[in-house]
Amino acid sequence: MKKTIRDISLKGKKVLIRVDFNVPMKDGEITDDNRIVQALPTIQYVLEQGGKLILFSHLGRVATEEDKLTNSLRPVANRLSELLQQPVYFVPFTRGPELEQAISKLKEKEIVMFENTRFEDLNGKKESKNNPELGAYWASLGDVFVNDAFGTAHRAHASNAGIAANITDVVSGFLMEKEIKFIGEAVNNPSRPFIAILGGAKVSDKISVIENLLTKADKILICGAMAYTFYKALGYEVGTSKCELDFVDFAKSLLEKAKGKLILPIDNVLANEFTPDAQTTISDANQFPTNMMGLDIGPKTIELFKNELKNAKTVVWNGPAGVFEFDKFAVGTKAICEMLANLKDATTILGGGDSAAAAIQFGYENKFTHISTGGGASLEYLEGKELPGIIIINDK
Ligand code: ADP
Ligand code: MG
Repeated sequence: MKKTIRDISLKGKKVLIRVDFNVPMKDGEITDDNRIVQALPTIQYVLEQGGKLILFSHLGRVATEEDKLTNSLRPVANRLSELLQQPVYFVPFTRGPELEQAISKLKEKEIVMFENTRFEDLNGKKESKNNPELGAYWASLGDVFVNDAFGTAHRAHASNAGIAANITDVVSGFLMEKEIKFIGEAVNNPSRPFIAILGGAKVSDKISVIENLLTKADKILICGAMAYTFYKALGYEVGTSKCELDFVDFAKSLLEKAKGKLILPIDNVLANEFTPDAQTTISDANQFPTNMMGLDIGPKTIELFKNELKNAKTVVWNGPAGVFEFDKFAVGTKAICEMLANLKDATTILGGGDSAAAAIQFGYENKFTHISTGGGASLEYLEGKELPGIIIINDK
């Protein structure tokens, strides 16, 4: 068990909080403030406990001086201030006297936020390469360190691992705690039957996830384009579907290893072209016309999946069932959302950037036990890896 902010004293302490404020921005405006909203419970708790808050995050990628103009955290500080209805003092630097003075003047229940940690990448990728001097410097600004940024937990950066190497008290915030609890427990100590649903674009992106879950889950339901690489492995015709020929042998070996645990779609929605209003037809597996591509699972597969899921106690889902960006091919992904929403007494977890976005877009935000906030991080967690941003948190 990892220590959380509940386990240490925060009163009067300078509390360094690594949050994930990597919000989508357009023309200097935040287009979705969900990540800021998600961080509020941790921030509010530290405020209530009488901490002095020092907040920081990365935002986008910073490779050139121009990137600084579009990737400042100032709009995020303003939004946070509105949400909390209290001032958030923004320091437009990542180090230096102005930041140090702002912190030394902090009183209990006040907040300082400093500039995008990736600005430090302009002089030699100091943040992303976990430069030891930078981690030590940021650590010197506070008394305790709270890591609440699950989205970057799969990377050892100066703003997580670097700070942790130089400070005694390292704990998780509530958001990180939730991710560890739900994804960690589902994968390592699931209530059974434990069913995984894996979809999305490529087998090659998810090799390690499939391998790990094959050893843990009772069944794995395969959907999305990755199903067609498995079809090829069985010698089926896949028409013009997206398919990774380099991974057909790998898919073959997985099918052998799986001994019936891998369930493939039995029918698909085929299209004559990759467009929102393509002509479509539904066809069984191994019945693909050579000039058509599979863009979604079909109705028989939806029924099959429903049946496989009906007694599930734990479900982990990663990757959409079809090209959900086009209405016509969103049916399978929506059906899976609905199936999981209707499961009684099951823990349902969705991890994966695109599939999480799809479920939220389709109105299922509050219908899962947990929707992970980290795309890449949740994938690596599902692979069974120990994430550097979690390892650094003190054990209870
Ligand atoms: P996640 O981000 O949830 O892990 P991926 O990134 O692996 O998911 O895959 C998402 C993409 O897979 C989506 O853009 C979707 O359009 C695409 N996709 C799903 N099914 C198909 C298909 N049958 N053919 C082509 N693309 C597909
Ligand atoms: Mg993705």
